[in-house]
Amino acid sequence: MGAMLLEGKPVARDILAHARDEIAELITRHGRSPELAVVRCGDAPDALAYLKAIRRSCRSVELPLREVELSTTTSPVEFRGAIAQLNHDPAVAGILVLQPLPPQLSPALPAETVAPLKDVDGITIVNAGRLFAGLETLLPSTPAGGLAILRHYDIPLAGQRAVVLGRSLVVGRPMALLLLGADATVTIAHSRSRDLTALTCGADILLAAVGRPGTIRPEMVKPGATVIDFGVSLRDGTIVGDVDPAVAEVAGALTPVPGGTGVVTNAILINNLLKAARWQQERTAAGGARTTVGEE
Ligand code: NAP
Repeated sequence: MGAMLLEGKPVARDILAHARDEIAELITRHGRSPELAVVRCGDAPDALAYLKAIRRSCRSVELPLREVELSTTTSPVEFRGAIAQLNHDPAVAGILVLQPLPPQLSPALPAETVAPLKDVDGITIVNAGRLFAGLETLLPSTPAGGLAILRHYDIPLAGQRAVVLGRSLVVGRPMALLLLGADATVTIAHSRSRDLTALTCGADILLAAVGRPGTIRPEMVKPGATVIDFGVSLRDGTIVGDVDPAVAEVAGALTPVPGGTGVVTNAILINNLLKAARWQQERTAAGGARTTVGEE
């Protein structure tokens, strides 16, 4: 194995150490820590696995977690009501809705209902629009974590060719925008892209957010390239990424799965919560003048 392993743990540790200090400061200043509310409808294994990881991260920084469990028969009106309640609760600084939702609730419903200032996963149109415009915002945790890994390990970005595989609203698309913001030259590829290998072989930085194990094979990687694997799939009871393990023989640096991007996602979520809490307090101090993220 030739590639340097870009472990997520040291990155998450740095982010959480900073978060711990900030939580202590918030408690001193306001008498309580901000709360994270996690909403889920049902027991989908993906949602439960993510919830378990969030619980662990919150415990590690002693951040209060409010778990809101809605029934799988929740109607859109009831869902809107539950989110509105959290939007108006001053103890709750951030709201995360776990996917998948039951079929009667559109996957877009959380983005339409969560208050942008409490949108710790950067899914609302306001926060996505601010990212698009290159303004400061609450970023989707997974791609923000990808960028944090690249920065932590001093991977050069400016002027580098980056290829992002996947164009989802939560990973691929925001990842591409973040890399563009860091002055990389960015290509987005997806299931309809032709001649994927020609594209990926030109990448100094290759990022895979596809959800199909083995999508990135060694012959698709430029020797010495940095490879970030966001993929999480279960194969024979083991968690695997999108990148064939043999890529380690070709790449210069590679995130392991597990132990790479996943752990950093959860640390960024905590970071986002604290950012959201700060912005909400600024708004309160300004007499409520600030109504959206970053608005003065
Ligand atoms: P998604 O919404 O299913 O999107 C997958 C993307 O991959 C789509 O844009 C799809 O293209 C593209 N794609 C599918 N097959 C492809 C192929 N053969 N070649 C190139 N592109 C292809 O998934 P997601 O929510 O972005 O998640 C992607 C992966 O990241 C999943 O494994 C998920 O579990 C994982 N994930 C990890 C974290 C973390 O913290 N590490 C967090 C969230 C998600 P089309 O748009 O054309 O369909």
